[in-house]
Amino acid sequence: MIFDLHSHTYFSDGALSPEALVERAKARGVSVLAITDHDTIAGVDLAHKAAVKAGIQLIGGIEFSSQWGKGGVHIVGLGVSPASPELQAAIDFQEQARAARSLAISERLSRAGFPDALAGAREIAGAGTLGRPHFAQYLVKVGAVKNVNAAFKKYLGAGKPADVKYQWPLMDQVIGWIHAAGGFAVLAHPAKYELTRMKMCALVDAFAAAGGDAVEVISGVQPASLTQDLIKIVNARSLYSSCGSDFHIPDQPWQELGSFGVLPDEAKPVWNLLGF
Ligand code: MN
Ligand code: MN
Ligand code: MN
Repeated sequence: MIFDLHSHTYFSDGALSPEALVERAKARGVSVLAITDHDTIAGVDLAHKAAVKAGIQLIGGIEFSSQWGKGGVHIVGLGVSPASPELQAAIDFQEQARAARSLAISERLSRAGFPDALAGAREIAGAGTLGRPHFAQYLVKVGAVKNVNAAFKKYLGAGKPADVKYQWPLMDQVIGWIHAAGGFAVLAHPAKYELTRMKMCALVDAFAAAGGDAVEVISGVQPASLTQDLIKIVNARSLYSSCGSDFHIPDQPWQELGSFGVLPDEAKPVWNLLGF
């Protein structure tokens, strides 16, 4: 059975509708899919209906932005109840924070010579929550830079003209939201924060101390040696392990639905907490 417990739709920064995401997961042999859009559950109901039709199992989820030290980290909530008032309040909180940040970014971009950045980025975001990737895409669209990476290097990244520092809520707060909504908290892609191994271990320690349940030991295609190392770190702290593609858009084979190998036997799978 293939479990893919991290994926995005166009309700955040993914390209597909929930229905198309579920269809693609089914076609790629996924048996259990979690939909985990950034700071929103707007796609969960549609994905549930599509999953019933397709004959696969769906886990409602969300990927919250959180703060650890000076950096951002992502915490996935699996099995959260969409009806939870605590979850809705958390989503509103994040939405307001993102809106304030987007406004500040657009003001900086305006001063840098792009007065229409806010409207332009909003148009690109469509149904999704407006965020930095949409400003990056806007800068590409108007020909200011060649690609999204260059947009971050020149305008949006650390120390650049439209770099707006924002303090996301701390991990214990985010984990509290997820637990209040009946879900389990998973530290997303720990190897992607560009930390030394020692710092990464400190992050996992802090996550465990804040009440976290599991860590993504597989995020998309990665070396088997990294998976083994992460499982060692996670097992030593009695945490569960999760795996997922972090699928956003087709044609990115390194984060394609279901295609990241299987969770090794030494790992304690997070789906045991979810009744599988
Ligand atoms: Mn994303
Ligand atoms: Mn993430
Ligand atoms: Mn993600």
